[in-house]
Amino acid sequence: MKTHLLALLLPAVLLGAPAALAQTTAFVGGVVWDGTGAPARDDLTLVVADGRIRSVSEAGDVPPGAEIVMLDGAFVMPGLINAHGHVSGRWAPDGVRDEDARIRGDLELYARYGVTTVLSLGDSEAVLRFKGSADPRAAHARLLAAGPVVSARDPAGARARALANVEAGADFLKLRVDDNLGTVEKMPWEAVQAVMDVGRARGVPVATHLFYLEDARRLLEMGSGLLAHSVRDTTVDEAFVEELKTSGVCYVPTLVREVSTFVYEARPGFFDEEFFTRFADSAEVARLSDPEFQRRVRESEAARRYRVALIQAMDNLKILADAGARIAFGTDSGPAGRFPGFFEHMELGLMVGAGLTPQQALLAATRDAARCLGLDDRGTLEPGKWADFLVLDANPLRMITNTKTLRQVYVAGAPLLDAPDEGPGG
Ligand SMILES: [Zn+2]
Repeated sequence: MKTHLLALLLPAVLLGAPAALAQTTAFVGGVVWDGTGAPARDDLTLVVADGRIRSVSEAGDVPPGAEIVMLDGAFVMPGLINAHGHVSGRWAPDGVRDEDARIRGDLELYARYGVTTVLSLGDSEAVLRFKGSADPRAAHARLLAAGPVVSARDPAGARARALANVEAGADFLKLRVDDNLGTVEKMPWEAVQAVMDVGRARGVPVATHLFYLEDARRLLEMGSGLLAHSVRDTTVDEAFVEELKTSGVCYVPTLVREVSTFVYEARPGFFDEEFFTRFADSAEVARLSDPEFQRRVRESEAARRYRVALIQAMDNLKILADAGARIAFGTDSGPAGRFPGFFEHMELGLMVGAGLTPQQALLAATRDAARCLGLDDRGTLEPGKWADFLVLDANPLRMITNTKTLRQVYVAGAPLLDAPDEGPGG
């Protein structure tokens, strides 16, 4: 039988209850996995008031006057937190011109797939401005942002850019140390150091793009606050594993970034998945379906090498997870060909493919991502946290692809998706 969300509306306002109770909702009868690491528990009641979780308890503790939403055994988990995405406005519906509205469009797309917080690691100044004025109860993913990637090659220029980002409210600074498979010159270390110095002085962590183990090691030594990609050139050695663990710095695998470089050599299977097509950008699908485009991908040397790099990245993820390093879920979704929201579900599948348990992957995408981003107001379903959560038809702890049975997404306790067609009792 198909589970459905049956909202038994008992509008507190109409019943004359106090105004405060008008915003209280009890979600009854869910299987709740709260993201703390505790096992999922059956038949719980989640009470939400003013956008925050008030309690998670055995069924029956419904405050008087609360609106009741029956969950009928559906699976409830914290919203996904993406520690490496990109918000630019490129995914907003055609015809949306206003810059803020376009940025909002990207965040709405993330949220429809269950991503309720995204750290945009490299974006425009407009994204930083948007973040500064965002309403914490708005019906889209919550935004953290780095502002423009610091790419100046001279220390003075790097320092100026980093300072400008900090002044504009950046949550992280972002820089890249990579030669793109030997095709460009890396950012000079003196310039990297200048950014690290600004970050340290101003208390803003530096997220670093990297590819090579030796660079990851050096960035860690220099004080990087977040390794924003996998080590992909070689197997991480014991010394690095220890350095990473000792530093407490989080490691963001972004496995689907590699996938995006080669998967469009032919029409990918996911183009026919209903979970993909329901919100996918059809113009982007058409572009990626062009036989000429696909031919170029098939013939791309970079694509061939990144396919190998993906296997290396998956091996390294397993080694680091087994060793107890801190893993923060992240995808590098948002640029062309990397569908925001959908790619996050693909990433979870790859993490499990790398050998993590579904629970490990889901913890990386909830509690641990929140901790890695310094956020103590989300990531788990505990009293006082934002009521950002997902309702699924099937349990993803049993099979990770069940995250695609996403039925409803709540941000600050408010549902984002249109209710299913079935009426009450249907
Ligand atoms: Zn990125």
